[in-house]
Amino acid sequence: MKVLLIEDEIGLADALKEVLTREKYMVDISHNGIDGLNHALTGIYDAIILDIMLPGMNGFEVLKELRSAKISTPILMLTAKSELEDKIQGLDGGADDYLTKPFQTGELLARIRAITRRQGEITDGRIEYGDLELKLKKSELVCKSTGQSVRLGIKELQLLETLMRNQNQIVTKEQLVEKIWGFDNESEYNNVEVYISFVRKKISFVGSNVKIKAARGLGYSLEEEK
Ligand code: CA
Repeated sequence: MKVLLIEDEIGLADALKEVLTREKYMVDISHNGIDGLNHALTGIYDAIILDIMLPGMNGFEVLKELRSAKISTPILMLTAKSELEDKIQGLDGGADDYLTKPFQTGELLARIRAITRRQGEITDGRIEYGDLELKLKKSELVCKSTGQSVRLGIKELQLLETLMRNQNQIVTKEQLVEKIWGFDNESEYNNVEVYISFVRKKISFVGSNVKIKAARGLGYSLEEEK
């Protein structure tokens, strides 16, 4: 899962990144509102942690821009202020949850899990598609109809997770590169095909009837063969 952290306090941002990375999240940091908004507009994140008092553009403005651009990424707002008014403004503006500083990291992780769970099929770190079940923490792919399972490498896991989270839509090569290798990695384009072929082999190894379908020039999507 990929998280965007928009926080101008560098010490806090680094500490949160460390906590989130330990929990297997991939984290990008923006230290001001404008940069944060630009990153968030790509739509590649599974969750956004958004501070309110930010240079450039405040958290409420970032939130408003994102929602008016139809970016529905779950957003957890952070603020040093505990006024009820802020909370109401945040939730009214389309934030999914709200956390007051200072907070325990355990609380932050629980909130992140809660807002991302609302988004998709994920329960207890598992995603399902057809007869496939992907166990995120164990990096394991299970076929429910055959009982076979196989371990996935980290990039294979991220690739399949992205496809499973975007069921019934085409995921472009560009989205996969940004999601798995990060920005400014155009040299990684050829890797996508390589990893797609690895994941296809593992899906067929466990005996699933799910296929990764390539839409020429567009990208990839999952399909169940009846
Ligand atoms: Ca701040």
